Amino acid sequence: MSESLNFLEQIIETDLSEGKHDGKVLTRFPPEPNGYLHIGHAKSICLNFSIAKKYGGNTNLRFDDTNPVKEDTEYVDSIQQDVEWLGFKWNTPTLFASDYFQQLHDFAVVLIEKGLAYVDDSTQEEISDMRGKPTSPGTESPYRNRSVEENLSLFEGMKNGDFEEGSKVLRAKIDMASPNMHMRDPIMYRILKAHHHRTGDAWCIYPMYDYAHGISDSIEGITHSICTLEFEVHRPLYDWFLEKLEIFPSRQYEFARLNMSYTIMSKRKLLKLVEEGHVNGWDDPRMPTVSGMRRKGYPPAAIRNFCDKIGVAKRENLIDLSLLEFCVREELNKTAPRVMGVLDPLKVTITNFPEGKTEEVEVINNPENPDGGSRKMPFSREIWIERADFMEDAPRKFFRLKPEGMVRLKGAYIIQCDEVIKDESGEVVELKCSYFENSRSGSDESGLKVKGTIHWVSVADALSVEVRMYDRLFSTEEPGKDGDFLDDINPDSLKIINAYVEPALKGVEEGKRVQFMRKGYYCVDQDSSKEKLVFNQTATLRDNWSKKK
Ligand code: ATP
Ligand code: MG
Repeated sequence: MSESLNFLEQIIETDLSEGKHDGKVLTRFPPEPNGYLHIGHAKSICLNFSIAKKYGGNTNLRFDDTNPVKEDTEYVDSIQQDVEWLGFKWNTPTLFASDYFQQLHDFAVVLIEKGLAYVDDSTQEEISDMRGKPTSPGTESPYRNRSVEENLSLFEGMKNGDFEEGSKVLRAKIDMASPNMHMRDPIMYRILKAHHHRTGDAWCIYPMYDYAHGISDSIEGITHSICTLEFEVHRPLYDWFLEKLEIFPSRQYEFARLNMSYTIMSKRKLLKLVEEGHVNGWDDPRMPTVSGMRRKGYPPAAIRNFCDKIGVAKRENLIDLSLLEFCVREELNKTAPRVMGVLDPLKVTITNFPEGKTEEVEVINNPENPDGGSRKMPFSREIWIERADFMEDAPRKFFRLKPEGMVRLKGAYIIQCDEVIKDESGEVVELKCSYFENSRSGSDESGLKVKGTIHWVSVADALSVEVRMYDRLFSTEEPGKDGDFLDDINPDSLKIINAYVEPALKGVEEGKRVQFMRKGYYCVDQDSSKEKLVFNQTATLRDNWSKKK
């Protein structure tokens, strides 16, 4: 067996070599529709879909929608959209655990008939007290030895709505002394007089996740049920149900969930961020959700590549957020066209360039892509440059613009700074420069040697745009580690600025990703209108964060 296989691939290859399941591989991604998908789910999606594909198998998308209280069709829709966007195709149709409610009920009846399940009238507290502690055995419920007939009739009554919520549950009859707490007669069904987003009011008993999950896998014939480590201790219970029911033996394999620095992935906490307005919705570009990353401009290929790079482990670890950002940069460096955008503008007047004249210069779209082509950019007497590209008291090694200094305007001419104009407060408001007519890029005959090249846009032609600049949402590596995670929110994670970009971007479509040369990667936001483009900052050009720390 090759060294480079991960442990799941090794398991599958062994199964295939033994002819298990007739050489079939069927995995599934089983989200609960109670929130939006995040980067951790993306990890699970990439793993389930890629591994099945690698071995000629398929993947089901199944909503584990057994809890009517927290679930919603809004989540069902967003989850499908996200999986698709990530680049994966599931077996159609989309599946729902709620479609198995009847089967799950019938299996429960089978277990009752076998004397392996009983109706318990104890209260929730009593049940949890009787369960005992991991170190000492639990106590058996006084209802544990009800007859099969009585159990069947009571369960029927539960189903028909004869009893109040909380007054009865159906429990598996396993072992109250098991060292595994999940095996101490776990609850299979509870009464919930709640409306379900798919089955409506058809049911007033709902299966517990632990009862429904493994059986749903089995109903679908899932060969390799891959999930996160916290379910390892549930596996004996899943196996128990399948064995006692004598149905398809799906097997569960566990891997370490993805944890990432400066990020939270608990759906409960993410919901809190949304509901309390700490962010602007589930798809806020600062959120670790798939929809947030999409809106921020992360390409799906970058996310897939990240998930591939981190691999599958058997032990919990913390992945550095910079690795994801690295993958985003790596992808965008190859694919994003370069454009010029000035984020903190300072006006430059080129005094020896004729007023009212516009010249076109040619700029290459992407030096990393030989087929990327080039575009024309208008050059005129007044241009915007980046404020930080001028320094009045510049050190010797400052190669951008300084009084009497020269710099090349990317794709255009060399200019020299002749005069610095300030307002009453002493702030620099404009530079008067002159240009060298024979220094044009591509046909430079000036003989001038300049070390710096800066970006620029023509004042008369530039588009005024909104740019949303992002920093990490949390300022600590493990938010909530020492208290409330909300206290670790970075108060400066969003800054809105106005910028000027070159006119070629006019009318560019939503979702378009570009590199503002020397500044970073940006993506056109859905809030853009005909009048004004809105950009989200996707990533800086380099990892500025490690420096900041
Ligand atoms: P909860 O069950 O608390 O609502 P969850 O994050 O487990 O939250 P599910 O919808 O049950 O949400 O998850 C769907 C699948 O994604 C599961 O198989 C789960 O194991 C997997 N998953 C969830 N979080 C991560 C993570 N951080 N890394 C890898 N896989 C994850
Ligand atoms: Mg879960």
